[in-house]
Amino acid sequence: MIKNKTEKRVPLTPDVKRKLKFAEEEIKNLKKENRFIVPRILNSEQKPVSVIDGKKVINLTSNNYLAMASNPEVKKAAIEAIKKYGVGSAAVRTIIGTMEIHRELEKKFAAFKNTEDSILFQSGFTSNVAVCQTLMNREDYLLISDELNHASIIDGARLAKAPRMIYRHKDMKHLKEILESEQSKKAKRKLIVTDGVFSMDGDIAPLPEVVELAKKYDAIVMVDDAHASGVIGNQGRGTVNHFNLDGKVEIQIGTLSKAFAAVGGYAATTKTLRDYLGSVARPFLFSSSQPPSVAATCIKILEILLTEPKHLKKLWENTEFFKTELKKYGFDTGESVTPITPIMVRDSAKAVKFSNMLFDEGVFALSIVYPTVPKGKERLRTIVTAGHTIKDLEFAVSKFVKVGKKLAII
Ligand SMILES: *Cc1c(COP(=O)(O)O)cnc(C)c1O
Repeated sequence: MIKNKTEKRVPLTPDVKRKLKFAEEEIKNLKKENRFIVPRILNSEQKPVSVIDGKKVINLTSNNYLAMASNPEVKKAAIEAIKKYGVGSAAVRTIIGTMEIHRELEKKFAAFKNTEDSILFQSGFTSNVAVCQTLMNREDYLLISDELNHASIIDGARLAKAPRMIYRHKDMKHLKEILESEQSKKAKRKLIVTDGVFSMDGDIAPLPEVVELAKKYDAIVMVDDAHASGVIGNQGRGTVNHFNLDGKVEIQIGTLSKAFAAVGGYAATTKTLRDYLGSVARPFLFSSSQPPSVAATCIKILEILLTEPKHLKKLWENTEFFKTELKKYGFDTGESVTPITPIMVRDSAKAVKFSNMLFDEGVFALSIVYPTVPKGKERLRTIVTAGHTIKDLEFAVSKFVKVGKKLAII
């Protein structure tokens, strides 16, 4: 546990405290709505079985799909990079923060995604912001977005000058209507943005249809594969590869923060667009580059992905096992076809209680409530990893059943 050391400090003046007192009221309101967040603390490495808040639990909550966060080979590669390149670049990419290892990783991600080149950003979040803001920088452009796209796409759209139109989740009829609208016809450039795998429900975008419509109506397609890179497609190449659309999608976003266990993001695209983003995208220009150990981490994980199929195989075996077991006991696991498995509760307080009771039983599955998901769609969200054993998952399911019955969820 972390203890607050009592060290001498100059006390804040009453005036400083008074000006910030509004946060008290805000917190009160958040608490009323079950939205006040006090995160649990990880006391161990991010692992399939972790120590959280001092307790050893089956961890079904991270995005550590391939269990690479604690992989000894990967750790070694990161340490070697620190020895060779130091701990950080202390500069933005365009000043003197581009190390050869950053470019090496960009080339490797480009090959992985079957594109000409790629550009790294500080996170998946900033990748989306950077691309949406840059490509949609005029009022006579149009950004078209799935209603369940990630918050970073929404924020990217807010920073863009172009207006946006939102289509109902995966509704291709609606997308077509939008593409045929007057506003769309007038637009000088159109960008359709969709998550590849949707982060809360674990369902996959209908990419073949999106790409076909985009072709017909001359729109650029951007797929955010944060939850798909290192997870689906041949060797984990993502949804574009999964649907045999290699070479047919203009921009693929990936993250280094999920299956790749580090932190960062990238846009894989043409060499030309890459170079353009590298000269104007604001997060690239005004925020420093990743520590070299992060690049080394991802280079090693890519190498493992491409040479050791067992990790992906295990991830999907575990996914299949876990979903089948939960369904067998009557849990509603929604529309998921990926390792993200929601367990629907449909009530805020109950979802929180479910999560807490499971934790007491030795299983960590976080509750997700409004506004992250719509009211009435509250749930626990689980992600199995390649590092869980069948025994871990059997244990977890037995606890879901025990607590689920107590709370009359099944
Ligand atoms: C997690 C996530 C991101 C953000 O990625 P970070 O690297 O954590 O910033 C972006 N898009 C989607 C769909 C995500 O699930």
